[in-house]
Amino acid sequence: MYDYLIVGSGLSGASIANLLKQKGYNVLVIEKKSNIGGSIRTVKRDGIDIHLYGAHIFHTSDKRTYDYFSSFSKLNNFINSPLAFYKGKYYHLPFNMNTFHDLWNVNTAEEAKAIINTQIEENKIKDITNLEEQAISLVGNDVYQILIKGYTEKQWGRSCKELDPSIIKRLPLRFTYDNNYFNDTYQGIPVDGYSKVIERMLKGVTVVRNADFLKDKNKWMKQAKKIIYTGQIDALFDYKLGRLEYRSLKFETSKLKRKSYQESAVVNYTEREIPYTRIIEHKKFLNIDSDVTYITKEYPLEYKQGCNPYYPINNDKNISLYNEYLKLANEDKNIILAGRLGNYKYYDMDDTIMASFELVDKL
Ligand code: UDP
Repeated sequence: MYDYLIVGSGLSGASIANLLKQKGYNVLVIEKKSNIGGSIRTVKRDGIDIHLYGAHIFHTSDKRTYDYFSSFSKLNNFINSPLAFYKGKYYHLPFNMNTFHDLWNVNTAEEAKAIINTQIEENKIKDITNLEEQAISLVGNDVYQILIKGYTEKQWGRSCKELDPSIIKRLPLRFTYDNNYFNDTYQGIPVDGYSKVIERMLKGVTVVRNADFLKDKNKWMKQAKKIIYTGQIDALFDYKLGRLEYRSLKFETSKLKRKSYQESAVVNYTEREIPYTRIIEHKKFLNIDSDVTYITKEYPLEYKQGCNPYYPINNDKNISLYNEYLKLANEDKNIILAGRLGNYKYYDMDDTIMASFELVDKL
């Protein structure tokens, strides 16, 4: 009999298992897939760590989270400075003076603000009810049309008029020449790879792979006093109140016999007509010098059963359905929900770890 059974070995499950073990609890982790690590899993090919499920760049402003995460692997000094590609031209990201210089050939913040403010005024938006209105009210029409609209509509498979304004608030807007995509104090890539981080978190913890909790719930429930479930909440209840929506992704990876493919680790393709949203070049995250390179094209996809549910779609309908499921979950005091899927939230890696700290402190 274990103290805790943790369902899922992604960053959420692995960090919770690690923290509980540190406190002396007896923990069992089960994983549906044959590999551990969930969406942060990497594999090494020709000395290059391949991010199997899209670019993962660790960033946080929380010192405890940074110290904890980097205790499993040293982080390098990578700074994410993606480029956007639109109709044959590159633009700097996030939205900063370099971007405004690319767009309008302006040099000062005053000139950029004047253009943006004129565009904001022309649109006469009073109340912000959707992502389009939010984006135009922040950065004006040019940035919206060139760098946001196509990318966002591909990413979410919905019109910007139907999307929640909060999605765009993740992106910084600056009037300085600074291409750092994140505002956080700490940032980097684990030099040993994300898979090693997960392996080290789970050191000394019993992990059973190819074990589907939902297929044999009664058997697994008997293994521990409490269950921490990091999977999809609607699946836990056999979808009895209806299905939550997710956004999925398809990754197409190629090995190229050349030293370099693109000038930045991440290039976003912001026009609607190109079916992928970004190309990442894996060796650039750890600055690997080699004669081959690996690139991955990321295609957004409608979620269907059997696909990976990468992003929760946090609109009113889904949030109220999630809250109904949460009520059901709260009826069973032995089941605790965690992670991006259990909590149906858009977590970055540091959010996931902070949520694990909070949960384990509470337990
Ligand atoms: N976004 C955009 N243009 C870009 C990059 C991002 O409009 O070139 C918007 C888009 O709506 C996206 C959101 O910002 O869904 C968050 O993007 P981010 O790159 O932070 O998301 P993630 O890497 O987690 O998918």
